[in-house]
Amino acid sequence: MDADGTRETAPDAPRPAVEEGGEPACLLARLCPQCDAVPEGPPAAECWRCGADLRSR
Ligand SMILES: [Zn+2]
Repeated sequence: MDADGTRETAPDAPRPAVEEGGEPACLLARLCPQCDAVPEGPPAAECWRCGADLRSR
């Protein structure tokens, strides 16, 4: 009874910074309505695959 439980798990583990805008849910809303292509990089006015207008709505 001389130790108060030495555990390897740290009580205050540092959490990784959560970056906004990188969630899959956001990409689903930006999928191409024509070919379901996943947009890459900054929001584009046209689909990089089929050239569909993504700003129609
Ligand atoms: Zn497309």
